[in-house]
Amino acid sequence: MERLKIDPLSTWGLPNKRPLVISGPCSAESEEQVLETAKRLDGQGIDILRAGIWKPRTRPGSFEGVGRIALPWLKKAGEQLGKPIAVEVATREHVFDCLKAGVDILWVGARTTANPFSVQEIADALEGVDIPVIVKNPVNPDLQLWIGALERINRAGITRLGALHRGFSSYDKSKYRNKPMWEIPIELKRIYPEIPLFSDPSHISGNRELIASLAQKALDLNFDGLMIEAHRMPDEAWSDAGQQVTPERLGEIVKGLVIRDQNPEVAANKLEEMRAGIDRIDNYVLEILAERMDIAEKIGEFKRDNKMTILQTGRWDQIVQDRAKMGLSKGLTEEFVKELFEAIHQESIRHQTKVMNK
Ligand code: PEP
Ligand code: MN
Repeated sequence: MERLKIDPLSTWGLPNKRPLVISGPCSAESEEQVLETAKRLDGQGIDILRAGIWKPRTRPGSFEGVGRIALPWLKKAGEQLGKPIAVEVATREHVFDCLKAGVDILWVGARTTANPFSVQEIADALEGVDIPVIVKNPVNPDLQLWIGALERINRAGITRLGALHRGFSSYDKSKYRNKPMWEIPIELKRIYPEIPLFSDPSHISGNRELIASLAQKALDLNFDGLMIEAHRMPDEAWSDAGQQVTPERLGEIVKGLVIRDQNPEVAANKLEEMRAGIDRIDNYVLEILAERMDIAEKIGEFKRDNKMTILQTGRWDQIVQDRAKMGLSKGLTEEFVKELFEAIHQESIRHQTKVMNK
């Protein structure tokens, strides 16, 4: 797998804080709506102002975004707020329009990431441009497709590159609009620990009530930032009304987040403590096994004195079945318990053979 060439988040010109917060409306609707939302977001913990201008909608005929006329509105709002602005791009024209308008950060939406032709078109339009780009996960739970999109953008020379987790569509009903499947962004971070990772609890949940807990979970998993949709009147929003929050609520959510173990010393001590627990238990396991072997030797002596064979198959079958059942009730898998007792049994036989041949 090719390595991504990623610049650290510190090169994005953003404050050095965690989480970085991207907020703003799902869609820009009017100049007043963008300006008012941005004004009310001031002081609510926001670092980047977002708004969708071209909206990828499932069915034609619903609101598809106001288009490029919103770029100056967003630019003005960003200037008044003193924060960089971010816009979703899905075609080469979108990229050119955004660059011309002075958009600071671009993001690739989930539906676009799922289509390598579209991602390549965006990558080609970005050739030779230096701008931070955030790639949302594809709508389907395919890590390779996500990585492929990051690679395409990276090959165009974009090194200020981030990934954004917004959940995955699924056929089964769940309380989420898009299932989080946290293991996928975690695996991305394992492969590319250097990639700035954001989470979007608004699009994961589809429901404003679930945003705070999802945002906390992302922080606990060490994500760098959050994208949360905020609208001056969420219920009146032209898109994604149910998942948007007011700017004031955004502030409460951000303030309510608990940043755990920021202090690496505290984290290291905690880990040390848990590892000491494991060491203690392993020592105990070995002592108990040695004690078990002592008993096995005594049985060996008994068998020798009474001219019995070492192996008594019936007894052994019963042990394996009985222990597998005991293990299951303690949350251990049947295979593990069987393998463990197979090994213990072999060692018992070694001890008994030694005694028998004395
Ligand atoms: C959005 O952020 O408004 C958006 C369309 O998100 P996604 O691409 O995650 O569906
Ligand atoms: Mn949205």
